[in-house]
Amino acid sequence: MSNRFDAVFRGIEPLEDAGMDCEFIAELEARSNGAGGGHTNRINFYTPSFKAYETSEIAGCGKSAWPAVSITGGECKLACDHCQARILEPMIPARTPEELWRVATAQIAGGAQGMLLSGGSNHRNEVEYDAFYPTIRRIKDEFPGFRIAMHTALVDERIARRMERSGIDVAMMDVIGAQDTVTQVYHLKRRVADFERSLQALAATSMKVVPHIVVGLHYGRMLGEWNALDIVARHRPAALVLVVVMPFYASAARPFVTPEPRAVGRFFLDARAAVPDMPLLLGCARPAGAVKTQIDAYAVLAGVNGIAHPADGMVELATRLGREVRITPACCSIALGEEVLALEAHEGVRIDPAQVIAHERSRGRRRGGSLAGIPIVRG
Ligand code: SF4
Repeated sequence: MSNRFDAVFRGIEPLEDAGMDCEFIAELEARSNGAGGGHTNRINFYTPSFKAYETSEIAGCGKSAWPAVSITGGECKLACDHCQARILEPMIPARTPEELWRVATAQIAGGAQGMLLSGGSNHRNEVEYDAFYPTIRRIKDEFPGFRIAMHTALVDERIARRMERSGIDVAMMDVIGAQDTVTQVYHLKRRVADFERSLQALAATSMKVVPHIVVGLHYGRMLGEWNALDIVARHRPAALVLVVVMPFYASAARPFVTPEPRAVGRFFLDARAAVPDMPLLLGCARPAGAVKTQIDAYAVLAGVNGIAHPADGMVELATRLGREVRITPACCSIALGEEVLALEAHEGVRIDPAQVIAHERSRGRRRGGSLAGIPIVRG
């Protein structure tokens, strides 16, 4: 590997044994016009709160800052092959409007700044929020500073307007670009066009709209991602979140392979090129281990603007690439709107990269500590 990126990579301990692909890194350098982040050189690293974790560089924030709440508990009628409703399991159940009010007010009393509102789908990939809109409105009227991001699933214009009127701040939905994936993975008798119509209806409201593309959704293979990208580019949402399918949720009967990091990296480049002026974020749902390190490094090189709970070494990599590094102590539940809320609400805590790198190296030497004690540079 003999290019600028080589100089950048050498000496970043967590990357040294991550099996980075030198040829592909050269291709990334050639295609990524210097690793700028599209419209901004800043890159934000997000620390989730409801899923306890720590890396060498970023300490986890308090548990209640951005709770995830499900109006169906762990139930979902679709039971998509890549998820099997597992995404709902860690969420706080609130199956009635009264429960939602109790959960939200308890979280607010505990210091929560916002929440992700989600739930399982019916057989039409709709989440039945109807009975909850008056309570959402009441929460927003009584706690106007409390932000609410919602997993909308598929909607029509009437439902999108109801969400808007109830005070939802951020509307998020998965955009699927291949009919075979809709039919086989989601077991859904709907069309790809229904996903575009839903995005269009949401984009016509005042809500901040954040579509997600799940990379490798067709059993670990890439199929409709580029068509989904075209759909997103046509409707100019506030930001685009990419996540990568995690095989371990799938059943043995319908297994998923782990998406190939280079193929995922190439899609990051295509996404950066397709939406150059849009915040492009990598959500926290992605395979773990060395694959995660490769995927995260390719995302930084491709020019994404944010990564939720990044792998070790990413702060140092971004710093060496001359990116302006920011840390945002915000939740991210399977990559979700918090990034956008963080983008909007928090300018992030600008860390002193040199301090972080020194800390990372010392931590590398004595695996286990956290970021505590690193001075934060405000403003
Ligand atoms: S992805 Fe959504 S609709 Fe599919 S099983 Fe998971 S919760 Fe249900």
